[in-house]
Amino acid sequence: MKQKIIVVGAGICGMCTALALASKGNQVVVYERDIAPPDGDAHEAFFQWNRRGASQFRHPHAFLGLLCNLIRDRYPDLLEEFIANGARKLSFRDMLRPELLAKYKPEQEDEKLWILLCRRATLETVLRRYVLRTGNIELHDSSHIAGLITSRSDVSNCDSLVVKGLQLHTRGEKSEVYADIVVDASGRGTKFPQWFKAAGIDVSHEEHNSEMAYFSRNYQLNPGETEPSRHGLHPGAGDLGYIKYGVFPGDDGHFALIICVPEDEKTLRGAVRDNAQFDLMCRSIPGLKPWMDERKMQPTTDALGVSDIRAVWRRYVQEDRPLALNFFAVGDAAIRTNPLYGRGCSVGAVHAHILADILESTVDPVQRALEFDRRSEEQLRPIYQASLNEDKSGIKRARAVASGTLLEKTAGFKAWFGAAFGDALIAAIKDQVHVVRGMMRTVNLLEKPGDFLKEPAIRFTIFRYMLRGRKKNAAVRIVSGPDREEMLALLKNRAA
Ligand SMILES: Cc1cc2nc3c(=O)[nH]c(=O)nc-3n(C[C@H](O)[C@H](O)[C@H](O)COP(=O)(O)OP(=O)(O)OC[C@H]3O[C@@H](n4cnc5c(N)ncnc54)[C@H](O)[C@@H]3O)c2cc1C
Repeated sequence: MKQKIIVVGAGICGMCTALALASKGNQVVVYERDIAPPDGDAHEAFFQWNRRGASQFRHPHAFLGLLCNLIRDRYPDLLEEFIANGARKLSFRDMLRPELLAKYKPEQEDEKLWILLCRRATLETVLRRYVLRTGNIELHDSSHIAGLITSRSDVSNCDSLVVKGLQLHTRGEKSEVYADIVVDASGRGTKFPQWFKAAGIDVSHEEHNSEMAYFSRNYQLNPGETEPSRHGLHPGAGDLGYIKYGVFPGDDGHFALIICVPEDEKTLRGAVRDNAQFDLMCRSIPGLKPWMDERKMQPTTDALGVSDIRAVWRRYVQEDRPLALNFFAVGDAAIRTNPLYGRGCSVGAVHAHILADILESTVDPVQRALEFDRRSEEQLRPIYQASLNEDKSGIKRARAVASGTLLEKTAGFKAWFGAAFGDALIAAIKDQVHVVRGMMRTVNLLEKPGDFLKEPAIRFTIFRYMLRGRKKNAAVRIVSGPDREEMLALLKNRAA
């Protein structure tokens, strides 16, 4: 049975949801609080669009294999439009260092190990145009959803709240809109849990603070300049213990650099907010320095920060009982992971398609709610959990660096073994194509994170590397850059 479905929010996941639901023949109406993008191309959108509802709009985004394959398989013409508008495919082959290319023999799965490089503005504007051309979808901008319209279920043995519609504020006008199904795709700042609370429902909620502040700055290469090699001596992304850094090449010569610092590193947090100090820090990191040649590029934005970097998982089912019927939350409104790992859009797009499949498979509202919860747990929980684990070990590492202790020395054999295994893995990644391939499956979310480490050939290689001795492997792992004290001294000298 085809239904009328309201989607709240036209962010990346909201639009993926609209596409997924419309492709099943549903009538989809999307309400978006922000104004429409300015006329013109992605360039206008990047610089001019007032995108208050998605504060991460001008931060760099990488689009991982999971999302890219989903687009290529289901919407091949959309992928062509991304490419026509400047997005670039970074294939598995492109990711291999020249030494590895000589040993490389393509395998079929390599087709799935790719990343799309472009600014979020480019992806979002092309996706939006595509959505607007798709039948069965209406998109209303400047339309702010301000509350829920609900009733109690009249199904026996079910005391869930039934969502019937929403309160809508459009350009000063207040009205009510009704639908068979309501989907919350309103992102990390969703107000739905508060509205449910006001209606007497406590939405179950896990969250964990990454204790990290995330900053980025955008730049553009001058005309005629080319990007530095991605296979230089020093990696374009790394972890100095007290700083995580990375470069995000985009479209049309645009690129962005990111720096993440622990929340309680007051001096570093102050520094990354300041354009000159942000640049100074980037120049001091060998992996970022080649991008910072002032003769070749210019900044296009200030250093931008995002606060509240936390992992969040919301459930609308408790003890096998749906809290709400005819209501679903997708994307960041339900599941958030640290942006450092670039997983949010992939998770959101998969979430959207899980929902569309379930709505097609059964009309029973209770079954729909339970099945959506079950499949979200099954398919997305491993990604969430891996992100959470990475956040937790990042916090431990940052604390150890700040207090001048070596983590594995203070935490016993298990930690020592973990670190030795990690060193051997990084060393193997440097020169073994099959290990890189396995790791890229995990990075691109094509397997449960870390599953490649169960593969016998990969395990064997890593143990072989462990036998070479810790010292040799650890030397490969070292990411060059100033240590914490050197960085603080650099910033102090600059300020003086
Ligand atoms: C700094 C940063 C960097 C990131 N980098 C990456 C990356 O590299 N790769 C990646 O995959 N993910 C990345 N992410 C995560 C990614 O941005 C999100 O996972 C993704 O945008 C989620 O899509 P969404 O549609 O759920 O939410 P959003 O894209 O945030 O969209 C929510 C939409 O809902 C609208 N809205 C909100 N409230 C209302 C309302 N009441 N009524 C109507 N409309 C409303 C908003 O205006 C907005 O348009 C990053 C996130 C951050 C913060």
